[in-house]
Amino acid sequence: MSRTALRICPLCEATCGLTLTIEDTRVTGARGDRDDVFSKGFICPKGASFGAVDGDPDRLRTPLVRRDGELREATWEEAFDAVAAGLRPVVERHGPHAVGVVLGNPNVHTMAGALYPQVLLGALGTRSVFTASTVDQMPKHVSCGLLYGDANAIPVPDLDHTDHLLLIGANPLESNGSLCTAPDFPGKLKALKARGGTLTVIDPRRTRTAKLADRHIAVRPGTDALLLAAMTHVLFDEHLVNLGELAPHVQGVDEVRAQVRDFTPEAVAEACDVTAAEIRALARELAAAPTAAVYGRIGSCTVPHGTLASWLVDVLNILTGNLDRPGGALFPQAATDRTPWPAGPGHGFALGRWHSRVSQYPEAKGELPLSALAEEIDTATAEGEPIRALIAVASNPVLSAPDGTRLDKALDSLDFMVSVDPYLNETARHADVVLPPPPPSQSPHHDFAFNTLAVRN
Ligand code: SF4
Repeated sequence: MSRTALRICPLCEATCGLTLTIEDTRVTGARGDRDDVFSKGFICPKGASFGAVDGDPDRLRTPLVRRDGELREATWEEAFDAVAAGLRPVVERHGPHAVGVVLGNPNVHTMAGALYPQVLLGALGTRSVFTASTVDQMPKHVSCGLLYGDANAIPVPDLDHTDHLLLIGANPLESNGSLCTAPDFPGKLKALKARGGTLTVIDPRRTRTAKLADRHIAVRPGTDALLLAAMTHVLFDEHLVNLGELAPHVQGVDEVRAQVRDFTPEAVAEACDVTAAEIRALARELAAAPTAAVYGRIGSCTVPHGTLASWLVDVLNILTGNLDRPGGALFPQAATDRTPWPAGPGHGFALGRWHSRVSQYPEAKGELPLSALAEEIDTATAEGEPIRALIAVASNPVLSAPDGTRLDKALDSLDFMVSVDPYLNETARHADVVLPPPPPSQSPHHDFAFNTLAVRN
């Protein structure tokens, strides 16, 4: 018998409402839920494939435990016993930091993934935590932590009301946005233009989003921080700084002025491959708009000086009085607190409380760069034990992390490994125990993370 059920799509950050068609226990269709107050019926091809993802025959349905070198189906009791038998000796012999944990992106798309890693990390007491966030967005967390005292206090552009949107390193026509939860992000950009607003895109590539823009600046890759510093210089140089209602809350303006003094448009033009006149125009248009928002995403993070570029995005919003006002860059106020991640209790931000053993990378939010995982497993140093056991939760770093080939080899040297994953993928195939989560239709859902990044409360 066929029936319908409502749920939120867990497949990207947009959190669209879906109406599922269910026959017996099988999801046979998915369409946009017109009554969803946030997404209003929007759906993309990924969301429409919910049933295929949910019922994928390749999905693991029972745990796997390695016996005689082969991964074989096992009961849950046998699997948990194998985890206890494999992890305990590593912790007893080498200490908690010898157990690494890798948290993948899907953790923020499930309720269990948002809630229970903290419990796991608390029980283990390990500092060897590696996350997907360190691959593409940690610069934004660090810059917001330093600016606002909370690494998860990330302002989002008020897409529905702004008069001027400046995107840097973002291609939401393909991605539907990230660190900014907005169903139908492309439609919101078209609506911005239809109401007479302007869209400017800074991106080395002429992306689909760049093609939609009123102005596209093809900056040289990796020079975002220079370009943004020069725009900041112009704001000071041409007396365009206007903090507005933010003034009583802002500290350090004179220090910023001093820091960007030498970064004139003329000084950076050649490096950025953008003319000084264009840089001045970018700053003037930003300052002149009735309301404006600067939004930087992955392209501004995965470059040299990504943290500085991420910081300058917010500095531009602050200096033009656009932070925390309608039409500018806003702090969402979700019903749930914005720190569900293993950032530790309470608020406040500290960086480098410990470092990775081999390359001495500082932790941020209690996380180490995923790019350092392989060397933390395969390199011995005088500083401490290498990682001997690994728990990968919703993570396939052999495929998704830098230098996956080295990691592929390193995983073979572990004493023990657990993978929490619905697929026997490039990473999970190294595990001694694989624990498959239930499919999305069988899982409760609430977007703890994305409600704190949404363009509507
Ligand atoms: S935009 Fe994202 S949340 Fe919306 S339907 Fe597509 S995949 Fe799902």
